[in-house]
Amino acid sequence: MNLVLFGPPGSGKGTQSERLVHHYSMTHISTGDALRAAIRARSPLGIKAQEVISRGELVDDDMVTDLLESIIAPKRKDTDSFLFDGYPRTVEQVHRLDGLCETLNLVPPAVINLHVPEETILLRLTGRRICGHCGATFNAYFRPTRVAGVCDVCSGPLTKRVDDSPETTRERLRVYSSQSAPVLDTYGERGVLYTIDATAGADDVYRKITRIIEENY
Ligand code: ADP
Ligand code: ZN
Repeated sequence: MNLVLFGPPGSGKGTQSERLVHHYSMTHISTGDALRAAIRARSPLGIKAQEVISRGELVDDDMVTDLLESIIAPKRKDTDSFLFDGYPRTVEQVHRLDGLCETLNLVPPAVINLHVPEETILLRLTGRRICGHCGATFNAYFRPTRVAGVCDVCSGPLTKRVDDSPETTRERLRVYSSQSAPVLDTYGERGVLYTIDATAGADDVYRKITRIIEENY
């Protein structure tokens, strides 16, 4: 089974992916994580991506698809089951993924769409805080730490993702509506799209996703 976890920024794709890959022994492929790793490594790709990401725009289809291929090809021999988190994000990327599935002999993915209203997303993203030391995530509005700015788990300093500023967040949402939302029509026409309400807590969303998987795959 292959899955695409789709949804606007802040819909909880990362959180759900982590749980799903453990439970179903899938291989997690996050283009956002891969891009952030490239930025940390200051590779040529990372240097180009950094600027685009901090403006809230999408990295171009060629660049992100090359990156995707470079991470999945070496893993293919160890797994039949990938979870795509953050890819495809444009209709062009849907076609690129089709091609990649064909080349690598992968079953076409089912798509789970996490639906969250825009007001909630703005608070989730602008309130998101990440421990710079252990990576634990918190939220200034929904899940504040006991001491402001200090991680509850390891007492490390809390940081923000550069693209979580209010201005960049608004741009990411604009880009989502214009470039990413059309992906849903494409998969909807193929009959492989499952949309769920992802407003409630992570446990509730996780239950809804596993129900869809068990009923259909
Ligand atoms: P979020 O879903 O919260 O925006 P991600 O970590 O998935 O976070 O992505 C962060 C940024 O990385 C995106 O705003 C975009 O600039 C870039 N990015 C990630 N995946 C893709 C992709 N498939 N195509 C183009 N850009 C991407
Ligand atoms: Zn910590």
